[in-house]
Parts: sequence; structure tokens; C-alpha cells
Amino acid sequence: MEIINNEYQISGVSVLEVCKEFGTPLYVYDANVIERNYNRLINAFKTTNVEIHYACKALTNINILKLMKKIGANLDTVSIQEVQIGLKAGFAPQEIMYTPNCVGMEEISKAVSLGVKINIDNISILEQFGNKYGDSYPICIRINPHIMAGGNTKISTGHIDSKFGISVYQLRHIERVVKSTNLKVEGLHMHTGSDILDVDVFLNGAELLFDAAKHFKDLEFLDLGSGFKVKYSKDDYSTNIEELGEKISERFNAFCTAYGKELKLIFEPGKFLVSESGFLFVNVNVIKQTMSTVFAGVDSGQNHLIRPMFYDAYHHITNVSNAEGKNRIYTVVGYICETDTFGWDRKLNEVREGDILCLHNAGAYGFSMSSNYNSRYRPAEVLIKDGKAILIRRRENLEDILASQIDAEI
Ligand SMILES: *Cc1c(COP(=O)(O)O)cnc(C)c1O
Repeated sequence: MEIINNEYQISGVSVLEVCKEFGTPLYVYDANVIERNYNRLINAFKTTNVEIHYACKALTNINILKLMKKIGANLDTVSIQEVQIGLKAGFAPQEIMYTPNCVGMEEISKAVSLGVKINIDNISILEQFGNKYGDSYPICIRINPHIMAGGNTKISTGHIDSKFGISVYQLRHIERVVKSTNLKVEGLHMHTGSDILDVDVFLNGAELLFDAAKHFKDLEFLDLGSGFKVKYSKDDYSTNIEELGEKISERFNAFCTAYGKELKLIFEPGKFLVSESGFLFVNVNVIKQTMSTVFAGVDSGQNHLIRPMFYDAYHHITNVSNAEGKNRIYTVVGYICETDTFGWDRKLNEVREGDILCLHNAGAYGFSMSSNYNSRYRPAEVLIKDGKAILIRRRENLEDILASQIDAEI
């Protein structure tokens, strides 16, 4: 989002015009940002045979998936429903990786029938899969290397208490199951879930995966998951993608030489591709002065963007209606009957009732984690592409809320 002649714009489109046309609360995504981030990754890994799988749980709108397909990404999915949406969006089955956690054989078998790549993350399913399919359906195995490249255990999946993946220390057991059921392992995977603060720590995890990979002779790819951190505020840190690209590529290419085959290197970013591209625009319903602060109460809340309340995430806020206004301090809160605070003590250009505020970095885990709590409608979604604002999800209505409820004889 840029400010041009006191008007906020997203890739040339006036945000106030978009809000006027489609109403608030409104999610708006900038296709240019998504494409730019995708290209940045591809460039950082240009010396390897890299493939980017968009982790679509971050933002699942089918039009975003179609955009990803168009710019060249494959897809990473965590449920059979995401697989089905991916197929509908036009991805070929083999362009979709299915990485579920704690699902039963029934759903896994469905994934087999749909023909997608399957990533198995526990020994029990590995055994059942081997007994049922043997070498007829190649699989990928999710290894947990137990590394912590960043500090947040709420989002980390690599620590020792984590439910994700098969511990790298159980390698012998994996090998036994693979051998006795004749499984064909075409890929190894890790996704530590933590933000990559330190490229070298991440590299150590990758090294563990390379070591494990020597034990499997039919590999086609190694998948290093995600962990690409983006900036949420000005002084926040972000993963150094170029340094990561350089260091990982060097080690990966050396591994391939030793392995005797050029494998594919896969990453599965969600947040990195879409976070910055997204904005949540909300209307200020009331300004409420209390003894402790001035609240700006908006027509949204934890039902639309739960990250501030769920992860203590910082989302930058801008008053897009009053670019010239003098700075004042506000606490921005939602309209849900919970303490749904978007931000304490934010310095904003003076906020008046009826102004529109923008929550930045709302592209990832924003709409996709939204709900109908308090029987509120979820927002509409708009994609800015080629200088146009395209509606990609209409606003909900009361029929939507009641659609799956039975009007039973009570
Ligand atoms: C959620 C998820 C990702 C994406 O994580 P981001 O932090 O959004 O990049 C990648 N791989 C798997 C298996 C995931 O569950």
C-alpha cells in the first residue's frame, strides 16, 4: 500500500474507493506482492532444481490458488478438503502434496484415489499404508529433526513435545517398516514450523534430513517445509531469503552429488507468499473514551482476524481516511463480546467515527482462520490484479449462517 497525493493506494487502486464499492469489513489482496515474493524465492534458489509449494491453509480462496497455479507454484495441503479445492483450482494431482496430521487411513486412501502426493507423519499409518499399497504408491515421509530455528513454541512444530512428524531418532524403525512392507519412499520432508531467525540453525536441521536421506534409495525430492519469517512491524526481523538460498543450495547440491542423483528441492511457504499481500479494512463504529484509554471500536474482531488474540501477533494499523490528521494514541478493539484487542496504544492519524482503518499483513491466517462467532458474517474478499479490484468472495448473509442448520420440530 502506498500513499500518493494523500490517497492510499494498492497497486494504483484507491483503497477508499474499493471500500466504498465492496463495503467493510473487507479483505484485500495485492496479486503483485504475491508474485514478487514468489519470484524472490525462485531467484534465491536459482542454482537448484527448486519447486515452491504454496501452503494454502494460509489463504484458501480458490482464486488465490488459481493465481498461484498461474505464476508457477505447486500446492501444499493439510486436509482432503484442501486437496479437493486445489484440484478444482486446476492443479494436477501430482502438483499437490498432502501433508495431514492425525488423520485416519480412510482419508489417506481417498488421497490415493485422487492421485496426489502423500506425506506420512507417523509410524502407525506408515505401516497400514505399506500393508495396503506396498510399492504401488510412492510416498513421502515427514521427519521431525527437533530443531528450533526460532523461539515461538506456539507455532513451532519441531520441538520434542511436538505431535508432528516421525522423530529422526526413529529412523531405524522407519527403515524396518519400509523394508518389510516394500514401501517406495520418493521424498523426505521436514517442516519445523518455527520462524527462521538463524539460517545456520535451519541448515543444521536440513543436514539431519540429508543424513536421513542416505538411507533411502528411491528419492526424487527433499522437502524442507517452511519457516520463512516476514516482518510484521518496522523493526521486526525477517528471514534472510538470499542468504538461506545461497547456503542451502550449496549444501543441497553437494548432497545430490554424493547421492548420485539430482533431486528436487521443495519449500512450502504460506505466510511468506501471502502475508504482506493482504489488508483487512474495517470501519470505525465508535470512539469511546474511558478512564484508561481512547478506544476505537471497529466493525470486525477476533472473528475476522484472530492472530493478535491467539498468537499475540502484532499487526500494524493505519488510518487510511485521514492521512493528514495529527497523531493520537488509540486502542483498537473489535465488536465481538470478548476482549478482542487488535492493538494497544497505537499512534494513528486522528481517528473519527466513520474512518476506515487498515490492518496490515493480514493475508496469511486471516480469512482462513475466521469464523462466524457472535453469528457475524465473514468479510468479503477482493483481489487487486492488473489495476482492477476483483471480488473473489461475496460478503455473507443470514442465509449463509443458517444454511447448515436444520429448522427442526422442537
Ligand atoms: C502451515 C504449513 C506450512 C506453511 O507455513 P508458513 O509459516 O505459513 O510458511 C508449510 N508446510 C506445512 C506442512 C504446514 O502445515
